[in-house]
Amino acid sequence: MHIKSIESFVVHSQDTTTKEIHEQRNVGGHSGYFVLVHIKTEEGIDGWGECSTGSDYGEGAFAAKEIIDRAYSHRIMGKDPREFKKLWDILYASTEKYGQHDIGVLALSGVDTALVDISSKEYGVPACVLLGGCVSNEIPLYASLLFDMDDPGGTANKGKRYVGDHYTGVKFGWGMIPEKPFGKDFNKDEEIVRTIRETLGYEIKLMVDIGRYVNMSSSQALQLAKRISKYDITWLEEPLPRDDVEGYSSLTEMSPIPIAAGEGYRGIQDFKRAIINREVDLLQPDVGKAGGLSHTKTIIELAHSFNKSWVPHNWSTAINTAATIQLVASAPDGYLMEYKQESNPLIQKLVKGSGETFKIREGRIQVPKGPGLGIEIDEDVVDEFNVT
Ligand SMILES: [Mg+2]
Repeated sequence: MHIKSIESFVVHSQDTTTKEIHEQRNVGGHSGYFVLVHIKTEEGIDGWGECSTGSDYGEGAFAAKEIIDRAYSHRIMGKDPREFKKLWDILYASTEKYGQHDIGVLALSGVDTALVDISSKEYGVPACVLLGGCVSNEIPLYASLLFDMDDPGGTANKGKRYVGDHYTGVKFGWGMIPEKPFGKDFNKDEEIVRTIRETLGYEIKLMVDIGRYVNMSSSQALQLAKRISKYDITWLEEPLPRDDVEGYSSLTEMSPIPIAAGEGYRGIQDFKRAIINREVDLLQPDVGKAGGLSHTKTIIELAHSFNKSWVPHNWSTAINTAATIQLVASAPDGYLMEYKQESNPLIQKLVKGSGETFKIREGRIQVPKGPGLGIEIDEDVVDEFNVT
């Protein structure tokens, strides 16, 4: 097989709720820029991947697109897509001077996933087969929602339907608007977590994602963890900036709640560092950020070798969700994945076909049986949201 063309598209779409609130209150936070990568072969098989380049003004997405168009495309044109591991190493090595822990790997993520999509289609199998075998037909989900710090009752009620829908867990994070984040006032933080726990009951897992609207120290995060640990929190996510390696290590050792992070890690070297330094209890690789589908598979195998648990981060388009399903389905130690609940056309409209994009039954997402990522992209929708 030979690669014939590589196209990349910067697409933009905000989640409905976030967009409304931002417009009403005239505040910033215009995230929602991603790069979709479309690779075609001489043999007529094509594949899609995504670079999950969240950035307020699209700067991350445009930088990744530039790298793909200007450099990666030249390096892999004419090559055999089934050699995706070898091609990953070539592209990664080419970024040594400017981006091995960030933009170079973000850009690589979409290319790698598209190559795995093509290769699996060539063999007529779902991508999980190519990654070692599809060991699950369905994957338990946790729902991801945002805190509204002005409305603890309303926030809690939003989580209620996932108890009825048999989701394994619900995660609340960040804050609807950057100016009123979770983590700014520990009294309010405890009140909202208590309200949520009392509303949802103790049968469902509850996770708290502090996110990046606040900046706290390791000792402040420990103080907060101690205050909310009585509400049975499954994990406390990203309480510190990703580079605070020492802070994470000491927090993880002392926190009564397991500490999770990893959506900010790029490539296996970041994960290796986090594991060796015991920075976290639980790793959260994102296929669209960590290096693509085949590379994230390597990352979770590294985690497995250290008996470290992992649950993929997933907060972007339908392509990343489809790739994440294939990743978890291929892993004997995969037990849970994140499923974004905010309404966004890049999830609901991007995939061809009538009805729901992904089949969810009793809080479990079904692994598609079709070849590759198991989805067909609607290129008219790509055009509609293309801001390149
Ligand atoms: Mg998070």
